[in-house]
Amino acid sequence: MKTLKTGSIASPQDPIALSPVSQRCDCSEHDMPKDRTISRLRGELHRLQEQMRKAEASKPLQKTLAKAAQPTIYVITPTYARLVQKAELTRLAQTFLHVPQLHWIVVEDSPHKTPLVTAFLASSGLAYTHLHTPTPRDRKLQEGDPSWLKPRGAEQRNEGLRWLREDRRGQPGADTQLGVIYFADDDNTYSLQLFEEMRDTQRVSVWPVGLVGGMRYERPVVEGGRVVRFHTGWRPSRPFPLDMAGFAVSLKLVIANQDACFDGDAPMGFLESSFLQGLVTMDELEPKADNCTKVLVWHTRTEKPKMKREEALQKQGLGSDTAVEV
Ligand code: UDP
Ligand code: MN
Repeated sequence: MKTLKTGSIASPQDPIALSPVSQRCDCSEHDMPKDRTISRLRGELHRLQEQMRKAEASKPLQKTLAKAAQPTIYVITPTYARLVQKAELTRLAQTFLHVPQLHWIVVEDSPHKTPLVTAFLASSGLAYTHLHTPTPRDRKLQEGDPSWLKPRGAEQRNEGLRWLREDRRGQPGADTQLGVIYFADDDNTYSLQLFEEMRDTQRVSVWPVGLVGGMRYERPVVEGGRVVRFHTGWRPSRPFPLDMAGFAVSLKLVIANQDACFDGDAPMGFLESSFLQGLVTMDELEPKADNCTKVLVWHTRTEKPKMKREEALQKQGLGSDTAVEV
């Protein structure tokens, strides 16, 4: 049994005696090594504090470098003026703000850039390019047309592709530039994980889309790591029976195939195929989202708001203030 010195601290579980710091020895002979120890420990503490400070200071730089090294995701979004437009764009922008290294290409279906979208993008906090091109009248859906009658957003997606190619023309190493292109409609719902799934796309990557085509989901069917067919409720024989939200293409593939674009005259359900046909074959598709078993994007659609009361009040000159942007 060890005998403890008076004034020592020890617990029954820890029978090792510790000299309390406050208890000073009045013997100068013992003071010397103690002072030296304290001074050595002070030096050590200072050195560690300095190390921590340096590590903290270099963190943002490390983060910036790691971000810059990953491929940029170029998201092309066609959009058009309607009551819910700002709500849709807000939802989208606030998702994209969480995605590192994302460049948003917003293409308005309009003969000019609108003040609403211009101001919205300027205050979005995102890296973006603002473009516009109107859909020709004969290709545009008219009031009362069923939504499936004509493809929507084809000209706008092509305008986004044109800008991407033009912007890179003449840049050194343009044909090997890392980057991924994704066509994101303004009314869908996107999981953040989707963007990390698509980031290493080599040619064309694919995944399931929820709530589309009159189905719970549509998806490529994967066997042995390859896409062998498609789970879809309608014409599985189409070259690529995929929704716009269900694939991404690499920037270098789009640069190498200058003519690849969407055919605005494609029959219903063939718009995606018109673009992908010249770019890949089915067995080259890169399945993502756990071999296409996870739904990370939903083809949600926003209800058109009813304006019955607004119109009634307008007739009496009591409508909502038009200067208030909605
Ligand atoms: N869009 C457009 N002009 C139009 C109709 C639609 O630019 O006249 C855009 C729309 O904002 C969306 C994309 O094209 O980003 C697809 O349109 P929508 O969501 O209406 O198509 P659906 O969900 O019916 O496939
Ligand atoms: Mn939609």
